[in-house]
Amino acid sequence: MSELPTDQLAAQLRGELLVPDGPGYEDARRVYNAAINRRPALIVRCRGVADVVRSVRFAAEHSLPVAVRGGGHSVAGHGTCDGGLLVDLSGMRDVRVDPEARTVRVAGGATLGDLDAGTQLFGLATPTGQVSMTGIAGLTLNGGMGMLQRRYGLTCDNLLSADVVTADGSIVTAGADSHPELFWALRGGGGNFGVVTSFEFRCHPVGPTVLAGMVAWPVDKAPEVLAFLRDYIVDAPEELSADALFMFAPPLDVIPQEYQGTRLIGIFLRYVGADLDPEVVRPIREFGTPVLDFVYPMPYVAVQQMLDPLNPNGNLHYWTGEYLAELGDKQIELLSMFGASLPDPHSIIEVIPFNAAVTRVAPDATAFSHRQDSWLIHILGQWPDPADSHRCRTWVKRAGADLRAIGSGDTYLNLVTDEEVDRVDTVWNKTRMRRLAKVKAQYDPGNMFRFNHNIKPADDADKDAAADADTRRERRR
Ligand SMILES: Cc1cc2nc3c(=O)[nH]c(=O)nc-3n(C[C@H](O)[C@H](O)[C@H](O)COP(=O)(O)OP(=O)(O)OC[C@H]3O[C@@H](n4cnc5c(N)ncnc54)[C@H](O)[C@@H]3O)c2cc1C
Repeated sequence: MSELPTDQLAAQLRGELLVPDGPGYEDARRVYNAAINRRPALIVRCRGVADVVRSVRFAAEHSLPVAVRGGGHSVAGHGTCDGGLLVDLSGMRDVRVDPEARTVRVAGGATLGDLDAGTQLFGLATPTGQVSMTGIAGLTLNGGMGMLQRRYGLTCDNLLSADVVTADGSIVTAGADSHPELFWALRGGGGNFGVVTSFEFRCHPVGPTVLAGMVAWPVDKAPEVLAFLRDYIVDAPEELSADALFMFAPPLDVIPQEYQGTRLIGIFLRYVGADLDPEVVRPIREFGTPVLDFVYPMPYVAVQQMLDPLNPNGNLHYWTGEYLAELGDKQIELLSMFGASLPDPHSIIEVIPFNAAVTRVAPDATAFSHRQDSWLIHILGQWPDPADSHRCRTWVKRAGADLRAIGSGDTYLNLVTDEEVDRVDTVWNKTRMRRLAKVKAQYDPGNMFRFNHNIKPADDADKDAAADADTRRERRR
C-alpha cells in the first residue's frame, strides 16, 4: 500500500490516519472480540462528517473496500477488515436530545451508554440493547433488542432518520419522506449502504427509576423455570422484560457461598411501568426456592450497565442464535441440557421472549425480517484463554446445530458469525433480498461496504443467480 498518497489524505483530516507499523495502529485495529485478528491497510479515526466523506472519497479513488466501526462490538469482526480502509467512528459520540419533541440525535460512533446518559437527563429513553459499551450503529442497523422491546419495539423501529455518507462520498438524509427505500433498508439491512454519521430516534418516558434485578435457581431447576416463564410472560405487562439466563454465579455476597461459581438459571427482570409495582414481579420471586433474589428499584442507567461486568473487553467469542417458534418440552429439554454444560464461566445462554410490540410491526415495514411471536435463543460462547477455543467453539456449534434442527431456521444477524453466511439468504428471503439488492445497487454499486452480512448490488446478485442457474443446468446435462 506504499503507493497510496496517504500524506494527501492525512493533510485533509481533522482526525488521525493510522498506518501499519505506525503509532497507535496495533491498538486501533483491535475489536471487542479478541478472536478477530485483522489488519486494515489504513485506519481513519474520524473527528467529524468531513473526515468520513474524505475517507470514503479516497477509498473510492483508490478502489479500497471500506470497513466501518461504530462500537466495534460485532462478534463477527465486521468493525474491522484485512487490507481495506477502516472508517473508525469511535471518536464521534455526540448525543443531542430534544425533550419537547421527544427525539434524540446521536453520532455514528456513540455507545448505548452515551445515548442512555443523554436521554435519561430528561427522563426519556430509546429502546437499545443490554451492554452499555455496544455501538448504537451496528445494533440499530441490524435490529436492536433490549429491555424496552416488548413495550416500544426494536431500536430500528424507533429510528426517525439517518444521515448517511454513501459510496460516492455524497451525504444524504434518509427518512420517511427522503430516500425512503434507503430508510427502509437501514432498518435491518446492516451496514451495507454507507456510513451513518448520525441517527435520529424517537424517545419515550422511562425511569429514571425502574424495578429490576435477577432471581436465580440452581441449573437443575431449568425445565421448571423455563416452563414458568413461558406461561407467565403471556399475560405480563409489556413494561416487563424477563429474559432467562443460563450463567455461572458470580462470587457476590448476595449468593449463598455454596452456589458461587456454579451454573444457575436466572430471570433477568426489568419493569419500567411508572408505578414500579412490586406485585408485577412477585410471582417470579415466589417461584420455587431461588438462591438469588436481588430485585430493587434502581436507576435505569445502572440497570443498562448491569450485564457489563459479564461482558468485558478482550475475551474470545463465538456466538450463534436461533428463533424458536415455541418453548415446548423438546426445546426446554435441549436448552436445559446445554445450559447445564456451559463450557466456561464467561459463557451464557439467553432465552429471550420475542413478543408484544416487536411483533406488531408489519413484516415489510422495515428490512428487519422476523416479526413472529417466538423465543430468541442466544448462545454466547465467551472465554479468556485461547487454549479453550476449540472446546468452547465446538460447544456453541453443537448447541446451534441442535437448536437449528428444531428451530424456525431464522436467526438474528447481530448474533451470528461469517461462518453462518448461508443464513443471510434465509433471514432476508428472496423478495426482501431483491429489494435490498436494489437499494444496495443505488447507493453502493461497487460493494465498497462489504464487511457486514453482505448484500450484493442488484446487478451482481442477478448475475450470480444466472451463473448458479447455468451451473445447475450444466450439472443436469
Ligand atoms: C457484549 C455485547 C452485548 C450485546 N448486546 C446486544 C443486545 O442487548 N441487543 C442486541 O440487539 N444486540 C446486542 N449485541 C450485538 C450487537 O448489536 C452487534 O454486535 C452490533 O453489530 C454492534 O454494533 P457496533 O457498532 O458496536 O459494532 P461494529 O463492530 O462497530 O459494527 C458492526 C457492523 O455495523 C456496521 N457499522 C458500524 N457503525 C456503522 C455506521 N456508523 N454506519 C454504517 N455501518 C456501521 C459495521 O460496518 C459492521 O458491519 C451485543 C454485542 C456484544 C458484543
